[in-house]
Amino acid sequence: MLSVNHLKKSFGGITAVKNCSFEVQGGSITALIGPNGAGKTTVFNIVTGFMRQDHGEIFFNNKNIDELPSHKRAALGIARTFQTIRLFPKMTVLENLLLAMPNTKEQWYHAFQNSALKKIEEENKKVALTWLSFVGLHAKIDEAAGNLSYGQQKLLEIARALCRSPKLLMLDEPAAGVNPAMLKKIGELLTKLKQQGMTILFIEHDMEFVMGIADKIIVLDYGEEIAIGKPVEIQKNQRVIDAYLGVGGGLENHD
Ligand code: ATP
Repeated sequence: MLSVNHLKKSFGGITAVKNCSFEVQGGSITALIGPNGAGKTTVFNIVTGFMRQDHGEIFFNNKNIDELPSHKRAALGIARTFQTIRLFPKMTVLENLLLAMPNTKEQWYHAFQNSALKKIEEENKKVALTWLSFVGLHAKIDEAAGNLSYGQQKLLEIARALCRSPKLLMLDEPAAGVNPAMLKKIGELLTKLKQQGMTILFIEHDMEFVMGIADKIIVLDYGEEIAIGKPVEIQKNQRVIDAYLGVGGGLENHD
């Protein structure tokens, strides 16, 4: 579904992504791991069109998307969440989701022609409720987003990305900072999404979480992929063990 070829990106004197290539298969869960500063978020920013690469190419469903701005990539089916929570805290849970809904020009035209705006709103609300139920936040629909717990806000961000009916869901640290019960819940939700056919690419530092749900892991180090494989292969990869996994199996940082 996604093919990243020889990506390079520098910020002044810092080379954030040096020579990064990988593929994401449709209907799978792929994890992008590596120490702080390895270039993971920069890769996300480039794939989603928030940033332009210096070199390299990106293909989504065999289509080169290098020239497309982020909203067009989103329209093709690439949705993302961010490392830091980006909700509107004073708006309700439902309002946060409705704001994210894609409304095509045709829908709006139709709406103004036929006074059918209400119908679109109802359809969008139905989609929002479906995803809120999926993540278990349906009871919080009228709550201000800022009143939710940190973990619930992470769930709301995932629901918001899902409201765009993506083909590829890209999550930047979906489980960072949440409690163990929420960690388990997020892992189960992502696995359930995969079973429904969703393709997921995520960045995460929690190795147990990664190893538990990923079909494939891409390990970045100083902007280059140093290993790609199944969790068991990555766990045994000497270069990865030396660089991050260490004796404790945790991720060590270069910063
Ligand atoms: P983390 O796990 O801490 O989120 P990361 O693997 O996502 O790290 P990036 O955030 O992609 O790493 O950063 C890679 C390098 O590029 C770092 O040295 C970072 O300081 C630098 N960098 C990232 N974005 C910018 C920017 N907009 N301007 C300047 N330097 C940047």
